[in-house]
Amino acid sequence: GAVIEGTDVVKEYVTGGETVRALKGIDFHIDPGEFVAIVGPSGSGKSTLLNVLGLLDVPTSGLVTLKGTDVATFSDTERTRQRKEVIGFVFQNFYLISTLTARENVEVPRLLDRTPGKTRERATDLLERVGLGDRMDHYPDELSGGQKQRVAIARSLVNDPELLLADEPTGNLDRDTGDQILAEFERITREGVAVVTVTHDDYVAAFADRVVRLIDGEVVVEDTDIVDRGGG
Ligand code: ADP
Ligand code: ADP
Repeated sequence: GAVIEGTDVVKEYVTGGETVRALKGIDFHIDPGEFVAIVGPSGSGKSTLLNVLGLLDVPTSGLVTLKGTDVATFSDTERTRQRKEVIGFVFQNFYLISTLTARENVEVPRLLDRTPGKTRERATDLLERVGLGDRMDHYPDELSGGQKQRVAIARSLVNDPELLLADEPTGNLDRDTGDQILAEFERITREGVAVVTVTHDDYVAAFADRVVRLIDGEVVVEDTDIVDRGGG
């Protein structure tokens, strides 16, 4: 079944006396192993949808299920636990901690674990898999943009998420470096993880299995297999 699914999802923001309907009753489903791009003009609701998918924002109405469970039934503690266990996040600006090495950054989401040895092993393995086996003890300042994003991707995978959410992950990278990141996402989807990215870049959207296009809080079209990215 779907990793996360939404039915008639509405999100309203009330500021001052005014209500903004950022999502106007949308349906969505994200399946294991697919790479979905969310596109649309500024203000169309992309960030709001990503926040709903990330359990960072609660819809005003409608049903959202995470692996079949209505997320509205989660307590705050449970929602936080589910977010940590099921969902990984990657951002345009990487958000690495500058005083920690690449490996320590990857270990951060598991710092409270009582098995530091295992965490170190996992971080080492993930950094090797993203091609940074020789950069583990480097600090963010000593890494290129693409390398920083690969550290961030390794960090997002440290708790074995089933859903990886990426907000403009290639926005600060040149085309070649962006390609390496897209290849990384493709590899991750092959392992069954669903990857959802918000992007302004048609190139990234063309790479996706599916494009969800938002305009003014509504899904206007879902394009499937726009471009065959080959091999998958
Ligand atoms: P996008 O990511 O596509 O630019 P957003 O999801 O950020 O769109 O915003 C969708 C609409 O909701 C916009 O009209 C925006 O101004 C409004 N909005 C988003 N977040 C808030 C908020 N926290 N408070 C009030 N309005 C918001
Ligand atoms: P993007 O262009 O990447 O979608 P936005 O500038 O639309 O980013 O939104 C960035 C953040 O600001 C989001 O988390 C969104 O919820 C919040 N936001 C957007 N519009 C408003 C608004 N009118 N009032 C308050 N917060 C907003």
